[in-house]
Amino acid sequence: LETPIHETVLGGAAAFGDTVALIDGTNGLSVTYAQLDTFHRRIAAHLAGAGVRKGDVLALHSPNTIAYPAVFYGATRAGASVTTVHPLSTAEEFAQQLNDSDARWIVTVSLFLDVARRAAALAGGIQEIFVCDRAEGHTSVLDMLGSTAPEPEIEFGPDDIAALPYSSGTTGAPKGVMLTHRSIGTNLEQLRPFIPMEPGHSILAVLPFFHIYGLTALMNVPLRCGATVVVLPRFDLDQFLRVIQEHRITGLYVAPPIVLALAKHPAVGDYDLSSLEYIVSAAAPLDADLAAACSARLGIPPVRQAYGMTELSPGTHVVPLEAEDPPPGAVGKLLPSTEMRITSIEDPGTDLGIDADGEILIRGPQVMKGYLGRPEATEAMIDSDGWVHTGDVGRVDADGWLFVVDRVKELIKYKGYQVAPAELEALLLGHASIADAAVIGVNDADGNEIPKAFLVRRPATEDLTAEDVMAYVAAHVAPYKKIRRVEFVDSVPRAVSGKILRRELRDREKEQQG
Ligand code: ATP
Ligand code: MG
Repeated sequence: LETPIHETVLGGAAAFGDTVALIDGTNGLSVTYAQLDTFHRRIAAHLAGAGVRKGDVLALHSPNTIAYPAVFYGATRAGASVTTVHPLSTAEEFAQQLNDSDARWIVTVSLFLDVARRAAALAGGIQEIFVCDRAEGHTSVLDMLGSTAPEPEIEFGPDDIAALPYSSGTTGAPKGVMLTHRSIGTNLEQLRPFIPMEPGHSILAVLPFFHIYGLTALMNVPLRCGATVVVLPRFDLDQFLRVIQEHRITGLYVAPPIVLALAKHPAVGDYDLSSLEYIVSAAAPLDADLAAACSARLGIPPVRQAYGMTELSPGTHVVPLEAEDPPPGAVGKLLPSTEMRITSIEDPGTDLGIDADGEILIRGPQVMKGYLGRPEATEAMIDSDGWVHTGDVGRVDADGWLFVVDRVKELIKYKGYQVAPAELEALLLGHASIADAAVIGVNDADGNEIPKAFLVRRPATEDLTAEDVMAYVAAHVAPYKKIRRVEFVDSVPRAVSGKILRRELRDREKEQQG
């Protein structure tokens, strides 16, 4: 695949013409495909005129807006590599990403301009800060739309870096992931047959575009197909439900906490969600019972899962939308031209057969070029034969369905047995009085690692005790998997993509132990 990403995604935009590409779910403002095509070219022209050169890194620091895709593809058309930034980053976090990626340009929004300015001052080396909306002293993307500058003529190579997203930082510091025009474009090609979309399809984009899942499922895939993307800047359940009803949303790409809300929250009954045809969940483990409860309540086919990681551009497995009876809990089947191995955790390098839990290894054209500026980390991730060691535990059944158990590093070793926190969390979420749950391994007085649950109670269930919870779990699992300690908390720390930040819980635990 030799096409740059803006061509891959927007090559058909002019032909979609007046079809609506993006709608702002908060105020109804919209952009047509013809406009998106023109706008991203004008933005490219302006950026090139302002000095953006091929290979420059541009930091895009914005919540989801209808301008986001035009800026993203405009920047790549100008030859830039776009590093997408969490809009709620602190100035220090943002500065770290600017430094690490050697960024020269920032596009932000007035709401977060202060943070962007401080980050730029901390990092140094920033040539200019643009804003999407309006702010005094900064060129606005809106002004760029009137640009008469000539479109830059850039020679793109397939291995040029199109995007530099940062991994979520669930297991350590986030790393800059070098994704090329080819790796992203190829993955779109691999995904195309399994998540078909067409003009008339309406997708709700509430997961952030800055994360690889949102970037792919909510921007690249739908805009390439001529679907309509309704954009929300953050998740608020009532607003989310209202927008589904109002815009007759057909498809949702979400993370497990939203599936949980759709399955359990009383507000769901107040809205007409009959336009929904399917839900896809990815980015974190989804409990099969919860998924079933969600689809039964909404009267839609089983929730589809997909699996991937930033380093894999990101997809390797999807449950095809047309699959009639995917087994509960499956994250999908392997995409074309992708290879997988399951290898022993105790005995690395030994391949396992079907139905056995082991580390998931992946090889394929969607593998990243590497971590920016981290050759050792890259080598640790991609071996000399090109296999990516995902760090995830999974198993594959006789029909080729993959099941993800948890991350290798998160497994709790209780007296020689391995306990997957994700399995216990799923069980806990099935309890009527538990609103949210996280499990980590902690040390008991004898230095043994034991499973501990952090639980959020549902309203009006304050009488739920630690003993109740431990008895409930003990009744459902083998004795070595029992929860042996419980702490009630106000909330479970999560990343925007729904991932539980178990690292934060472990740090908290360490502090308490002194
Ligand atoms: P970091 O690598 O910085 O620690 P991260 O791994 O959370 O962060 P991402 O690339 O956003 O960063 O997430 C990829 C991970 O998400 C996978 O390795 C896997 O653990 C998890 N994941 C993705 N999809 C699924 C799924 N369907 N079920 C279970 N886990 C999933
Ligand atoms: Mg990771």
